[in-house]
Amino acid sequence: MSAYHRPRTLDDALAIRAATGALPLAGGTDIHPLRTARAAWGEPWTIPVLDLSAVPGLDGITETAQGWRIGARTTWTAIAEAPLPPLFDGLRAAAREVGGRQVQNRGTIAGNLVTASPAGDGIPNLLVLDAMVELSSSSGTRRLAVADFVTGYRATVLAPGEIVTALLVPRCDGGRGRFEKLGARRYMVISIAMAAAVIRCDGSRILDARIAVGACSPVARRLPMLESALRGAELTQAARIPGIAHLAPLAPIADIRASAEYRADAVLVLLRDLLAGFTA
Ligand SMILES: Cc1cc2nc3c(=O)[nH]c(=O)nc-3n(C[C@H](O)[C@H](O)[C@H](O)COP(=O)(O)OP(=O)(O)OC[C@H]3O[C@@H](n4cnc5c(N)ncnc54)[C@H](O)[C@@H]3O)c2cc1C
Repeated sequence: MSAYHRPRTLDDALAIRAATGALPLAGGTDIHPLRTARAAWGEPWTIPVLDLSAVPGLDGITETAQGWRIGARTTWTAIAEAPLPPLFDGLRAAAREVGGRQVQNRGTIAGNLVTASPAGDGIPNLLVLDAMVELSSSSGTRRLAVADFVTGYRATVLAPGEIVTALLVPRCDGGRGRFEKLGARRYMVISIAMAAAVIRCDGSRILDARIAVGACSPVARRLPMLESALRGAELTQAARIPGIAHLAPLAPIADIRASAEYRADAVLVLLRDLLAGFTA
């Protein structure tokens, strides 16, 4: 039996994390399946757990002068139901597609980010929102861009004494988001490929576009060449623009869900659908 801590203040949580290195537990929708799988292979769970459920101040979304603060423990259901501007339409669409209702009611945005799965539906959306991760420890707080926080396949720079306390999304006046996910079926499915976008337009012309793709590289990636090709384009023509050359940052692999070739083809279709959806 491993130690189980359930502190009631953030200071206590950070002190326990610093002293014991206990694993933060939010919704448990990644941790519990892992623990069960290990047990099935005869590996008892010995890692101390730091249950964050009683720590105040980690829930919910607040608007600030600079943008939005999404508490680390904010669930997918809370995101899907929040009265957010169109900038968040992609993140909210992803929230409605993470597992089923039970998973959405428990699973959190920070849990998705820290698991850092290539198929994590939240991550491309956080990339196009230009979100920062707020990391707290006993010695203070630091902020990092999501792209600098997730460094590889299920790898982040979360330090042993740190907890994610929030995701910070800057204002983007007139920004609109979208998200497209491809799986083997419509719902309750891990992504084969996914794409997220935030665009800003001046009338019918695209001023800025931020585009990211997930599940086609060890870490979800922005597509800077596609973003520059879209800048200045007519929105009605945007779906014609994505081409193979724009996918250079990606490295699709073959796995149980799809071949590398299928992923490369599918992601282009997904990007075209994603952009066409802004005029639908
Ligand atoms: C049936 C099922 C279907 C699923 N479908 C999808 C899907 O379609 N798309 C998808 O992206 N994911 C899916 N998932 C995975 C999972 O639900 C999400 O990744 C979820 O957002 C994880 O959040 P959690 O709060 O449950 O994380 P937890 O399991 O509590 O934690 C996950 C990781 O994050 C760390 N962590 C959590 N909170 C913090 C914090 N505040 N600070 C530091 N570290 C922290 C934990 O230590 C752990 O390493 C599915 C899971 C299940 C069981």
